[in-house]
Amino acid sequence: MSGNEMKYISDAFETNWIAPLGPNVDAFEKEIATYVGVNEAVAVSSGTAAIHLALSLLDVKRADKVFCSTLTFVASANPILYQGAEPVFIDSEPETWNMSPQALEKALKDAFNDGKLPKAVIVVNLYGQSAKMDEIVSICNQYDVPIIEDAAESLGSTYKGKASGTLGKFGVFSFNGNKIITTSSGGMLVSNDVEALKKARFLATQAKDPALHYQHSTIGFNYRMSNILAGVGRAQLEVLEKRVQARRSLFDRYYQELYFIPGIQFMPELQQTQSNRWLTALTINEEVTGTSVHSILNALSEENIEARPVWKPLHMQPLFEGVKCYPHSENMCVAEKLFDTGLCLPSGSNMTEEDQSRVIKCMKELLKIKV
Ligand SMILES: *Cc1c(COP(=O)(O)O)cnc(C)c1O
Repeated sequence: MSGNEMKYISDAFETNWIAPLGPNVDAFEKEIATYVGVNEAVAVSSGTAAIHLALSLLDVKRADKVFCSTLTFVASANPILYQGAEPVFIDSEPETWNMSPQALEKALKDAFNDGKLPKAVIVVNLYGQSAKMDEIVSICNQYDVPIIEDAAESLGSTYKGKASGTLGKFGVFSFNGNKIITTSSGGMLVSNDVEALKKARFLATQAKDPALHYQHSTIGFNYRMSNILAGVGRAQLEVLEKRVQARRSLFDRYYQELYFIPGIQFMPELQQTQSNRWLTALTINEEVTGTSVHSILNALSEENIEARPVWKPLHMQPLFEGVKCYPHSENMCVAEKLFDTGLCLPSGSNMTEEDQSRVIKCMKELLKIKV
């Protein structure tokens, strides 16, 4: 927390706005919309809820197809299943670790030839890094398929001067406890389509028809953000830029200290993009270093250092068994390779210099000895 949260929480208590609506919710929505530069934002209970609403707004139904990045957290794709629709996964490419435009193009071509284009493409910006949005937008426009930009991990990042999360039809942010700013749990759906977001608010509050009696004609959800939590969000947004700077500094120091070790490669930052470096991620080439990611994770854990593998690709998950994944190139799945070799180092915005020194020292010991 930044220290200012209690002020906004107290406002909520003093005015008795203890509900999933109120002045903090309205203000937080306006502040996020202004910050990222869109017409409208809707505060919701989670990033997952925001993705679900976006799919509902795009009329995704049973047996519809939705394309989604494979290298991501399961929450990107779960809402596809909520709607009874069918996911198709798209591989990553090496320059951003995100959706491969090449694989996407092939998948859309196949879908077009089958006469069944997807209702939406969910593009994820992994660990803060934007996907190749120009290429992806242009391919999707060709087939007239809308994009949902899953920017849950990339709030504060930019792509060619534009805020991450504003390059598709809808953008999604998460304020879960692990994200760069948090409301403990929460999310935001953003768009320039004001009418669509009006409908999002309607769907997120049980889809109550405009009648005095309780009347409902369509399925609704209970997805709005609490006015107390929106207060937390307002104070957090004030320090977002500082958080981005902190995470980028952590990355820079890890990079300076470790980049020269043979077999180590840090997650790249695409030209004309700025990543919030939510997590510092890198790959370890076992053939060069003689050490696997698995053994590094274990060794760090013994030192009480919590590092993580990269997300397990969704097409490899038991939940999505049998779901097709379009690879980046015919004989290489980039996401599988990143999963085999990828590692996320401790990257909390409040990490001390000494803590980071300890991680760096361990990494050097683990890797140098065997080089
Ligand atoms: C965290 C996350 C989500 C889900 O956000 P919640 O607020 O936890 O529901 C979705 N997609 C990605 C890529 C995430 O990292």
